Amino acid sequence: MNDTDIINPTSKRVLVTGGAGFLGSHLCDRLVEAGHDVLCIDNYFTGRRGNVSHLLDAPNFELMRHDVTFPLYVEVDEIYNLACPASPIHYQHDPVQTTKTSVHGAINMLGLAKRLDAKIMQASTSEVYGDPDIHPQPETYWGNVNPIGMRSCYDEGKRCAETLFFDYHRQHKLRIKVARIFNTYGPRMHPHDGRVVSNFIMQALKNEDITIFGDGQQTRSFCYCDELVEAFIRLMETSDDVTGPINTGNPGEFSMLELAQTVIELTGTKSKIVHKPLPQDDPKQRQPDIALAKKHLNWEPKVPLREGLVPTIAYFENLVKAGIA
Ligand code: NAD
Ligand code: UDP
Repeated sequence: MNDTDIINPTSKRVLVTGGAGFLGSHLCDRLVEAGHDVLCIDNYFTGRRGNVSHLLDAPNFELMRHDVTFPLYVEVDEIYNLACPASPIHYQHDPVQTTKTSVHGAINMLGLAKRLDAKIMQASTSEVYGDPDIHPQPETYWGNVNPIGMRSCYDEGKRCAETLFFDYHRQHKLRIKVARIFNTYGPRMHPHDGRVVSNFIMQALKNEDITIFGDGQQTRSFCYCDELVEAFIRLMETSDDVTGPINTGNPGEFSMLELAQTVIELTGTKSKIVHKPLPQDDPKQRQPDIALAKKHLNWEPKVPLREGLVPTIAYFENLVKAGIA
């Protein structure tokens, strides 16, 4: 029995790896609010204690420094495996560690799930599709990924993690869920993570040049964080035959030029757009086919980019005003 059983008999013991990161912290919020007993682990590589500090006084929340590349011995009912740097500059900073985090991290968390017969969800990514030549991308598409490029530590690490999840499912009958997440944004993104939404907003707030890589015609589809977390929770609650992979993302597709213009308009910045070289293997287009998510999760994002940018800009504005970013 855990502490929260007294309050809520339906509560579960839930482990969130990477729980002090952007998405992990929003997921912890939701799980704590639902009355579950939440164990958040993080090595703080890209996450921050500040993202979950408001939860520290909750009796059903526990924070632990731990690196998922090392085994973990705890008792839980469900595991959300989010630990992994997500922004290209962060995951390329130490590419060997990025692959270890995805692969050794998956092995350790799957081993834990096997011992406990716990349900486990993997935060996979649209990067498994690489630079896609099918548009929009359905889950049946196997992808177009460079195995030896700058993005490979992340793309191939996540692909191998998916392989491990499905082999544990076939070989050990583990209850798995795999979400392929498309670009997601919102408050608590790291202000210096170099991802396009945080970068453009930070540049705009400081009246610095807005750096578009390449001609800005490449596209991404942006989902607001709260809606993505809702998809995680719904996916975890699906019946055991629903394993995924399931695309989770907002099909609204924008070019980087359109995103820059929207950020300029919403912030009222004096910033000018400048063009910089396109990084190696930068995917030209991204849009999720979310038919499976609609069917199995009854889920479809509703927050348009323009609307979700408003609280996101407000979050970064506060960081700038407080001198934190
Ligand atoms: P994030 O960088 O904010 O969060 C990742 C968290 O994992 C951080 O708190 C970091 O400190 C932690 N971490 C990294 N390596 C670790 C390790 N070895 N052991 C323990 N903790 C470790 O990124 P995010 O955007 O919140 O992404 C969360 C997950 O979702 C990641 O797995 C990412 O690959 C996946 N994802 C995110 C997006 C997106 O657009 N946000 C898109 C696709 C996939
Ligand atoms: N990008 C950009 N300017 C920036 C940061 C990123 O034009 O300051 C582009 C980047 O080249 C890519 C897109 O924005 O085409 C999304 O980049 P991000 O790093 O956010 O995510 P990912 O490429 O992993 O989808």
